[in-house]
Amino acid sequence: MSTPKILILGAGYGGLLTALQLQKKLNYNEADVTLVNKHTYHYITTWLHEPAAGTAPADHARVELDGIIDKSKINFLKGVVESIQPDEQTVTLKDKRVLSYDYLVIGLGSEPETFGIEGLKEHAFSIRSINAVRQIREHIEYMFAKYKNEPERTEYLTIVIGGAGFTGIEFSGEVADRIPELCKEFDVDPSLVKVYNIEAAPTALPGFDKELVDYAMDVLTRKGIQFRINTPIKQCTPEGVILATGEEIKAGTVVWTGGVRGNSIVEKSGFEVMRGRVKVDEYLRAPGYDNVFVVGDCALIFNDQGRPYPPTAQIAVQEGENCGSNLVALIRNDKMTPFVPALQGTLASLGKGEGIGIVGQKKVFGSTAALLKKGSDLRYLYKIGGVGLALKKVRL
Ligand code: FAD
Ligand code: NAD
Repeated sequence: MSTPKILILGAGYGGLLTALQLQKKLNYNEADVTLVNKHTYHYITTWLHEPAAGTAPADHARVELDGIIDKSKINFLKGVVESIQPDEQTVTLKDKRVLSYDYLVIGLGSEPETFGIEGLKEHAFSIRSINAVRQIREHIEYMFAKYKNEPERTEYLTIVIGGAGFTGIEFSGEVADRIPELCKEFDVDPSLVKVYNIEAAPTALPGFDKELVDYAMDVLTRKGIQFRINTPIKQCTPEGVILATGEEIKAGTVVWTGGVRGNSIVEKSGFEVMRGRVKVDEYLRAPGYDNVFVVGDCALIFNDQGRPYPPTAQIAVQEGENCGSNLVALIRNDKMTPFVPALQGTLASLGKGEGIGIVGQKKVFGSTAALLKKGSDLRYLYKIGGVGLALKKVRL
């Protein structure tokens, strides 16, 4: 048999970890592995709330693939995937190049879920890539500069964060930390700046431990975030948002953190999906296609109670590792191992030195949570790029 061709789409947590596992386990020339990604870098999505608010430079969350991929084992191709033809075993890129495969791994990540809410796609920003967060930071700064030239337009200084899930909460913490700095830089009276976090559900962080949610809301409220809980956003306009109550909040900046769905390329390519995610089998394969694996936010997996696992980096990493190992097993005619997530807990930041989390069965608060989160970031960096990358990126 000729050398099997493995094609990996996306160098996020799921795709990159699949590639690195293959790099580690495959012998030279055992397979022809190609990793396709939009950019020449991997980005640390779990940090993007920081550059979005401007509390860290965007480049900090960027890791050049060149430095972590062994080119003698993995071919890297910069390209934008346009569609997948699973019956023909091909993938078409935006520039019309067509790539063929024996085994495909889909790790194309997620897109904002807007639930059809009018105006969100057009007028709201979302925290989804290095380029997207650069724009959010620049826009907030531009709004401060604009206000200085039109001082009657105080709404330029209002920021609406739509959704108080983990992304909305973490971004609120960073924005709260950035505001004093911006006020100083632009000579703006801090009392004129308003930051609203608006949540549809009866609580922030729905489904999370109540004591930790109360702690998070207390910390963020003290930092100046105004929560509007149980208040769905009904529409987004060029002027701000309209709530289900009919109230309008005028705002220069609206950032939508109301949830995600799997990359739409997957659905458009004919795979059966729920909210853009493929309900994969125990080996992370798409129904009907034994040679197509799906990892990360594009994959939907369920726990013992039949409830879907939330899309997280933690699970994407483990899926990537499992997928890489199973591809090696397939090539060597060995048995594959079913994917079972090993959840270590949840840690979320609330701005500098503050956080919440559950590690094992233990709740953690404040600086302990923040420190544990840094530790988990370091472990990830070490996993993908060794001590060198961990030391280069560490920010205490
Ligand atoms: P991604 O990491 O999004 O990677 C997808 C990759 O595919 C990217 O490299 C992208 O450029 C590429 N791509 C996309 N479309 C194309 C295309 N058409 N052609 C070519 N390439 C393409 N989870 C946690 O477990 N812990 C956390 O602390 C945490 N914090 C978060 C903080 C924020 C602000 C956000 C937004 C999310 C956070 N998450 C966290 C969730 C986590 O980031 C995602 O679940 C994770 O990134 C999913 O990994 P993935 O590999 O599926 O996709
Ligand atoms: P999410 O789905 O977890 O939260 C979205 C929030 O927006 C929900 O609370 C929802 O009720 C609210 N919402 C939806 N429609 C609304 C409306 N019309 N008006 C107001 N609020 C509305 O999405 P997310 O926060 O982007 O997180 C995506 C995934 O990434 C999740 O699985 C999450 O666990 C993970 N994540 C994890 C971390 C962490 O572990 N630190 C950080 C960020 C994200």
